[in-house]
Amino acid sequence: MYSLKRRLLLALIFVLTLTTFCTGLAMYFTIQNEVDRLLDNSLKQVALSYQNLHPADFLSLRSGFLSKDQDLVVQIYDPISGLKFISRKMDFLPIMERVGFSDIQIEGRPWRIFTAQNPLGQIIEVAQPTIVRSETAVQAAKTVLLPLLIMMLLAGLVIWVIVGQGFNALSTTVHAIERRSPASLNPLSMKGLPTEISPLVSALNLLLSQLDESLKAQKRFASDAAHELRTPLTALTLQLQLAQRAKTDEARQKAFEKLREGIKRATRLVSQLLTMSRLDPENRSKPLLPLDLHALAQSVVEEMSLVAAQKNIEIKAIGNTPVIALGNEDALRLLINNLCDNAIRYTHNGGHIEIKTFVDHNKAEIEVSDDGPGIPEAERERIFERFYRAEGTKTIPGTGLGLAIVRRVAEIHGGHPSVGEGIKGKGASFKIEFPARPSAEAERTS
Ligand code: ADP
Repeated sequence: MYSLKRRLLLALIFVLTLTTFCTGLAMYFTIQNEVDRLLDNSLKQVALSYQNLHPADFLSLRSGFLSKDQDLVVQIYDPISGLKFISRKMDFLPIMERVGFSDIQIEGRPWRIFTAQNPLGQIIEVAQPTIVRSETAVQAAKTVLLPLLIMMLLAGLVIWVIVGQGFNALSTTVHAIERRSPASLNPLSMKGLPTEISPLVSALNLLLSQLDESLKAQKRFASDAAHELRTPLTALTLQLQLAQRAKTDEARQKAFEKLREGIKRATRLVSQLLTMSRLDPENRSKPLLPLDLHALAQSVVEEMSLVAAQKNIEIKAIGNTPVIALGNEDALRLLINNLCDNAIRYTHNGGHIEIKTFVDHNKAEIEVSDDGPGIPEAERERIFERFYRAEGTKTIPGTGLGLAIVRRVAEIHGGHPSVGEGIKGKGASFKIEFPARPSAEAERTS
């Protein structure tokens, strides 16, 4: 883990220091160049003023009148009669072979020298130790660089404060989350949040509201399940008591038969409750893969045909081409299973059930129809609610969970089940749409 604030501050201060350093360096070199140019100019001016002196004036010049610590030295040298004049008490300057500027070493120190020649052929040299230049440049630079340094420190301070304030909003949000009780799933306040943090908080709020919804759904489900389980368990207790009290073998046998039926129903209810809870949002993470709905329908028909045969019901999967959809195979098998199971239970003996799979408007669809009692218009929306059972069919044992599971599976696949008329205008039909895949062939080649 790392601190974003510290990283940001270090980066900003590093950039600030680097910029100040580079600016300072550039300023120093500019000043140094300027000082060099000015002092070169003054060497030249002094040399030129001596160059224009009349030879008679040389008599008035007094050699060595300047002390050793004076930085400028002027020397006039006559190639015939030798040294004519030197302004400072020192060994005379070396005689340069060419006119103009040169850099030389005197007593181990670097000097800058300007050489000129007057009309008499005498050589005029004006020299200055180079150190004078760097000292002057440093002196000048100090006056400029000091304010720059102060400005850098001030800018650093301002950055520190601004970054600190920016992160305050984040720490306020963190404190708000830390302070809240685990039971509270209310949204966090978005007031006064900067635009960089508000998406994070609104994503958090979305998560909280989803969590709230899912917790409420789980609570509702647990209480509904407990309520629904109570009835069959009470029935089982009563049937057990009946079996215990039975006077004849025949009566006991009958009571046991009822008890077995009751246990079967309770087991079905428990297994459907379990299926329902497994289909909850956090269990939706399985990837949706391309699969053939027609092949799946055929496989369910094979499984169900024995049960259907007991009621002499004809069950068949219609269609002979693969219908490819993106899905979770186990969940879709459960969906088709539940629809067929309902159709078999509610359809009278000798009835018919058809499972059609087809593509319509580029959407894969599956439709399970029967010619049973059908579902009245007024009940068609409600039958998908958990534990809801339509009025006319309550004599047939059921849990009221089958269609809720169908709806949940359809939702996981981005679909919604619809109910309509069944075979030849009789019975019921349940249709679910899926986003389609072009064809099995295309699927294989992609
Ligand atoms: P269950 O069948 O266990 O009662 P479901 O959720 O599967 O629960 O179905 C809810 C209700 O919808 C059933 O009680 C029944 O009234 C009605 N229903 C479902 N399928 C059919 C069907 N094929 N024909 C007639 N009614 C049906």
